[in-house]
Amino acid sequence: MAKTKKATGKIAPKADAADQLKDFMVDGLKDLYWAEKALVKNLPKMAKNATSKKLKDAVQGHLDETKNQVKRLEAAFKALKLKPAAEKCDAMDGLLKEAVSIMEETEPGAVRDAAIIAAAQKVEHYEIASYGTLATYAKLLGEKEVMKLLLETLKEEKTCDKDLTKLAKSEINMKAK
Ligand code: FE
Ligand code: FE
Ligand code: FE
Repeated sequence: MAKTKKATGKIAPKADAADQLKDFMVDGLKDLYWAEKALVKNLPKMAKNATSKKLKDAVQGHLDETKNQVKRLEAAFKALKLKPAAEKCDAMDGLLKEAVSIMEETEPGAVRDAAIIAAAQKVEHYEIASYGTLATYAKLLGEKEVMKLLLETLKEEKTCDKDLTKLAKSEINMKAK
């Protein structure tokens, strides 16, 4: 983020701003590393507040996957001969704050379950966009191992998103109505 904004609306780059796609990709990996670790901490809260057993299980199952996704990112750093490092992802921080506020705004039961699915899907979509773009960069840069790792996680995020849609459509939204 820029320190100074001129009247032109142009954002001045920070001193350590990336000027190579590879550096930008690494910045993205750090962002996702922060985001996945934040999810490991916060998904249990969503599971605990779900009423539907199926939803609880779905969130719990994705928590286990998420722990593995953290390890996959560590492997990606290693493949790039870098130490794993996290940099705060403002978007995930915001999505997780919003998840808490929408739980506060809903009564426990089917309506809160619908809200948890909505919040979780926003998270998954952010992850899908992030892993998708980073995998494309990795491919472009010839970083095959990194690409493979990112695509594995991307697949899990897409499956999780689809499963949540199914759960919402098959029962939870109807109950909430
Ligand atoms: Fe994830
Ligand atoms: Fe981010
Ligand atoms: Fe996910």
